[in-house]
Formats: sequence, C-alpha cells, structure tokens
Amino acid sequence: MRKLVLATRNAHKVGELRAILGAAGLDVDLVGADAFPEVPDVAETGVTFAENALLKAHALARATGLPAVADDSGLCVDVLGGAPGIFSARWAGRHGDDRANLELLLAQLSDIADPHRGAHFACAAALALPNGEERVVEGRLRGTLRFEPAGSFGFGYDPILQPDGYTVTCAELTPDQKNAISHRGEAFRALAPILQDLLG
Ligand code: IMP
Repeated sequence: MRKLVLATRNAHKVGELRAILGAAGLDVDLVGADAFPEVPDVAETGVTFAENALLKAHALARATGLPAVADDSGLCVDVLGGAPGIFSARWAGRHGDDRANLELLLAQLSDIADPHRGAHFACAAALALPNGEERVVEGRLRGTLRFEPAGSFGFGYDPILQPDGYTVTCAELTPDQKNAISHRGEAFRALAPILQDLLG
C-alpha cells in the first residue's frame, strides 16, 4: 500500500482526509506529520493559501521522501477585500486565539448590514511528490456573517459563518454535516482523483 503523509499534527484532519480517500476507493496508508517528530514545521511565508499549502507539502515530501499533502485555510470577508485571509489564525495578534479573532472581526463589522456581510471559508490542498511534482486544488464554503456567535461545534470562525442555504451557523452543524459542505472537504475530495492518478 502506498504511504502518504499529511502536514498536520491534528488527528481530526488526518481522520477526515482518510475517510474522504477511503470513500473515493483509494488504497493509501495515510499518516500525520506526528509520525515524523524530527521534521520541523515550515514558516508560512507565502501570500496565498495555495502558496502556503505548497510550501508545507514540499517541505514534508523533501524531509520524509514520501508523497505529502498539506492544506491552508482561512476566512475571507467580502467587505474587507478578502481579509483576514491568510491572517485568519492571528487576526487579533496572537496566533490561534480563536475567541479574540472572532470578537475583533465582529467589532470591525458591527456597522455593516446583512446584505453586505458575505464571506467564505477557503482552503487550498496541495500534493507534493519527493521528485518535486506538485498539484494544488481549492475549496470554498460561501455564507453570511452573523452579528453574534452561535453554536459550540467546530473552531475558529465557525460560530459566525452561516452557510448559504442554511439557517444555522457552521458551529451548529455536526462535524459530519460540516465536512459534507466545507471548504476543506471540497478541496480534499478534489485531491482524491489526482492522488489516484499519481499514486495509482
Ligand atoms: P488552518 O489553515 O487550519 O491553520 O486555519 C487557519 C485559520 O483559519 C484558523 O485558525 C481559523 O481561524 C480559520 N479557519 C480555517 N478553517 C476554518 C473552519 O473550518 N472553521 C472556522 N475557522 C476556520
């Protein structure tokens, strides 16, 4: 069975991609970057999701000698010209402070009325082979930003994004319901046939 490594230490993301590849009939042994503790995290110096996903995938493929997949994602708000975008995880200054990021964004948008509160989650998923070959695909989840957070599932900006066609936020969807429509799910699903093609 071909081995494939995913550039994340998040077991949830590994499980999600494993399920998607399994559903696509792909027989690969997917492991997380945790399996290679000696490989350092790469600096995300790119200015787009795709650049950062490719940087992470290439670094991991080079270090492990295995095909590597990486993703990069964030929230893009229409009225902010696509911000926070690649700065989503540190919008309020400190990396990974989900609550502060969400509260700052809500404060910035407090005077913006419903018709102008469009936004989307975006995800780029990249595949890099040890020989330097690369592919990148993108997924999106479009919606509207609420004025107040709602729901306790998920993470990040989930409590304020209401997907188009829904009356609840992403944080009120179960993980399975969200995976079925999410930017990450869409990008990972688009990667499955590419992996099939390149890895057999
Ligand atoms: P990462 O690419 O998974 O590191 O995500 C970067 C940041 O984007 C996260 O810290 C969140 O703030 C935001 N983000 C990405 N995907 C999601 C999502 O599915 N729900 C909520 N926030 C997200």
